[in-house]
Amino acid sequence: MVRHALLPWILALLAVFEGAGAQDLLRLDGPGVTVRYRARHENAAIYCVNQYSEVRHHAEVLIGGQFKAPIIVELSDSAETMIARCAELGVEAVPEWAGGLAIAELRTAFLVVPSPHNYEWGLRRTLVHEVVHLLVADRVGAHPVPRWLDEGVAQVAEGYATANLWLALPVRAFFGWLHPMSKLDERFLTALEVAPALAYVQADSFTRFLEQRVVDGRLARIFDHLARGESIERALYLSTDLTFADLEAMWHGELKSDRTWMPWLCSQVGFGLVVFFMLVLVWPRARRRKAEADARMEQEDALADAEESEDGFPDGRTLRRMTGFEVRRLEEGEDEPRV
Ligand SMILES: [Zn+2]
Repeated sequence: MVRHALLPWILALLAVFEGAGAQDLLRLDGPGVTVRYRARHENAAIYCVNQYSEVRHHAEVLIGGQFKAPIIVELSDSAETMIARCAELGVEAVPEWAGGLAIAELRTAFLVVPSPHNYEWGLRRTLVHEVVHLLVADRVGAHPVPRWLDEGVAQVAEGYATANLWLALPVRAFFGWLHPMSKLDERFLTALEVAPALAYVQADSFTRFLEQRVVDGRLARIFDHLARGESIERALYLSTDLTFADLEAMWHGELKSDRTWMPWLCSQVGFGLVVFFMLVLVWPRARRRKAEADARMEQEDALADAEESEDGFPDGRTLRRMTGFEVRRLEEGEDEPRV
């Protein structure tokens, strides 16, 4: 009896929690895009729908081709929420530092919106980045595209996403520390955050070099060849009349000729020298002086104690030191008025 009475309640409780992750998502439909979001991100969802047409056009002009079908954009509060949601959908190994993720099979761009307010700048960049990935997937279909090119065009589309690392490239080129482009794809998978960050900026720089110096604003050509199933080496050669190795060497040369990092390095070295000078020369001397002053004070105090007269009053010298005036103790009977 008891079991029968409780059953509807148990079922009702299960129904409340069942699919709690996905089903409380709201949806907003716009031209070519559906945004899935939670109530607190209503403004961000409206922003994505409003921006989408322009973002889509931007991506289509950069790499050529057009979206074959509408896409889905899903907003998450944090990287952890996004990772959990991707795991629910069977997508594992999403790095913790990811601000967004594009899954071509689901036609979905996942974006992290850390704050319901003040989101626009970061959100637009991430939206552009992930939309480009979805378009690249549409463009090449089942044909392979190197990760560096996929990330490179996404970075070029979104702008200087990693400007703080931008300076690292000419320095690394100068010392011959750049990763070979043919091996760069492995670097995106490294667990340490700085390695993928450098891989992104290197992919960005090389793709930008191709677009601005070699294929004259038409990266689309390279994607045309990739979409026909050509390898990246062949696609680059057909688009530029230069081999992959030649292009990479030209790019290295261009980076090496950029010496804007030298004044920066000099200022850093100068700052380092000042800190070194302070630590090695000024600080020990100041410490020594303070120690000497302390010792002197202690000595004087000891002297004062010693000079204190038997009746417990300080003598004239100590009084002078304490007050700054010439003070003398009156002798017995000396305070008598003189007449
Ligand atoms: Zn990406």
